[in-house]
Amino acid sequence: MENTAKSESLFRRADSLFPGGVNSPVRYFDPHPLFIAGASGQRVRDVDGNTYTDYVLGYGPMILGYGDPDVLARVQEGLREGWFPGAPNAEEVSLGEMIRESSPWVEKMRFVNSGTEATMHAIRLARAYTGRKVIVKMEGGFHGAHDYSLIRSGSGSLTFGTPSTPGVPEEVSATVAVASYNDIASVEAIFDRLGSEIAAVITEPVFGNVGLIPPEPGFLEYLRKVTSEHGSLLIFDEVITGYRVEFSAYQNVIGIRPDLTTMGKIIGGGAPIGLFGGRKEVMERVTPSGPVYQSGTFSANRISMLFGLATMEKLANSDYGTLNRLVKDMAVAIREEIEGSGKVATVNQVGPMFQIFFGKESVKNYRDAMSADRGTYMRFFRHMLVKGIYVPPSQFETCFVSFAHTIEDTEKFVQGFREFIRE
Ligand code: PMP
Repeated sequence: MENTAKSESLFRRADSLFPGGVNSPVRYFDPHPLFIAGASGQRVRDVDGNTYTDYVLGYGPMILGYGDPDVLARVQEGLREGWFPGAPNAEEVSLGEMIRESSPWVEKMRFVNSGTEATMHAIRLARAYTGRKVIVKMEGGFHGAHDYSLIRSGSGSLTFGTPSTPGVPEEVSATVAVASYNDIASVEAIFDRLGSEIAAVITEPVFGNVGLIPPEPGFLEYLRKVTSEHGSLLIFDEVITGYRVEFSAYQNVIGIRPDLTTMGKIIGGGAPIGLFGGRKEVMERVTPSGPVYQSGTFSANRISMLFGLATMEKLANSDYGTLNRLVKDMAVAIREEIEGSGKVATVNQVGPMFQIFFGKESVKNYRDAMSADRGTYMRFFRHMLVKGIYVPPSQFETCFVSFAHTIEDTEKFVQGFREFIRE
């Protein structure tokens, strides 16, 4: 606290303006969050001048790191032409083509401005297309902050203890059935009971909002099979996983084709974005080619399209293999530290994402994540912050590594972890 006086004073002002002093609950931590003045490469700098190696990356979008000069130059040049005609622009076509070429199961798509909007529209579309009401989601799965998805949800809604928030009508939550991620029997039981009423199953292919949990072999394959058998749609929420592990949606990494896909974060390069897309015949039900209403003043706005396009062009030529190996090696080194300490903890890692759970031998589903030692995680967060390393201030978020991180950074992380676990 001694080193963050300016953040504290800004927080006092913010606290009188915004509920809890923040504009998104995940940003808050006790006694006050850090206010970030600038960011460059893999580092962020707070208003007091402290710098931190960042493993939050804006909660996911900043996979190139901050202030990439090529992205900046491209966006600056584009903005000279003005930024908001509210009419179609060439950039949206180029970005859309780039996405379809690299994620071919997204045959048609629509750009929106957040992951929340993307899943809301995908769910409505699935209901309209099938003429059914019921949505199946996974316990702890987070798909944004709208009524259809804030039902036993993850992310900030877990940290803040309102997995089903007040304000969602029972009539809405009664149309959402909750299964358990990585538990085929829990999905099977719902289909046995409600099969012909299920419009869609929505899940993140890799669970990223209760910490990080990889899919068990066979689970996602089963979701594909059971939805096809019952005439229900499968929606992969790839807001976190899209373009994370390779230059593609995660569905292409595992070879499972969903009917609909949602994306966000990376494809906008740090500007607000979302996308829902998928099978052409389903997407053609969206207005104006079909009857399912969807619109947005800021949809495909040039600022987001320019950031997205510049970022994606750069990512298309980036070496995901090297990044994934860097993070895998880091996870291995952290596991060695855990073993050497005689303590119990788990590290889950998929591509450049990882999370640490204290007090658990393994974390395979929401229940496992919920029973991890959150108090120790928050002590770990504070320990790392003092060492100049910024991890998410919640057990239920995921650590992200960018192309700007180096082996010196990850070694420093492992060293910080070693000190913590030995203490
Ligand atoms: N889906 C998933 C899987 C997410 O992780 C998030 C946000 N973390 C969302 C949807 C919502 O995206 P946004 O915050 O852009 O509305």
